[in-house]
Amino acid sequence: MPNNFDVIIVGGGVVGLTIARRLSLSGRSVGLLEKGACGQEASWSGAGVLTPTNPHRQDSLHRFRMRGLGLYGDLCAEIREESGIDPEYEQCGELSLLLSEHEVSMAEPDARAVADQAMPDGKPVIEIIRPDALRDLAPWLMTDLFGARLVRTTAQVRNPRLMAALYGACEKARVVIH
Ligand SMILES: Cc1cc2nc3c(=O)[nH]c(=O)nc-3n(C[C@H](O)[C@H](O)[C@H](O)COP(=O)(O)OP(=O)(O)OC[C@H]3O[C@@H](n4cnc5c(N)ncnc54)[C@H](O)[C@@H]3O)c2cc1C
Repeated sequence: MPNNFDVIIVGGGVVGLTIARRLSLSGRSVGLLEKGACGQEASWSGAGVLTPTNPHRQDSLHRFRMRGLGLYGDLCAEIREESGIDPEYEQCGELSLLLSEHEVSMAEPDARAVADQAMPDGKPVIEIIRPDALRDLAPWLMTDLFGARLVRTTAQVRNPRLMAALYGACEKARVVIH
């Protein structure tokens, strides 16, 4: 392995591989050191659920994380193109079941907190789905529910595929992995 890189990254999980690819694409020579095999630790075992932060937060970490969440789909499209492996990114949304009127009243402020935002198709970011509508949306669910909290910004990836795609994209970007 050459020893005159611009940047050396230690660890070939989702964090290390993503940074390595980006730096290499921006013109730096990048070496990545992995003690075992890339993408076999936390980044492999994770569930791949990409969740927004608490809708009541407005701080800079919240904005940073929401920006990252918004960029994930494009990142997955890029590495799919570069590697030929599809990480299976899907903005699937997240449905939390509400089992009492109390749970409905606890969830309603979440929807109100982001009422001024909308998905690209105009639908609310968070919506409280009442039982009648829920039966249409998810007819396989139990029937004695008080509703559900739908968070449309939640997405998912298939972690092993994400790691393989990132690895392939790093190789294509000429990251030297050791
Ligand atoms: C069971 C589980 C479920 C999860 N579910 C989710 C989820 O649904 N959504 C979500 O966003 N997050 C989830 N996470 C968290 C997510 O997986 C981690 O935040 C993420 O994978 C961390 O990535 P990483 O690259 O920092 O770490 P890792 O993937 O662990 O990569 C670190 C790498 O560094 C290497 N390394 C360590 N020390 C050295 C060294 N000294 N020299 C060389 N290499 C070294 C390791 O071998 C490893 O390959 C989950 C985690 C777990 C464990």
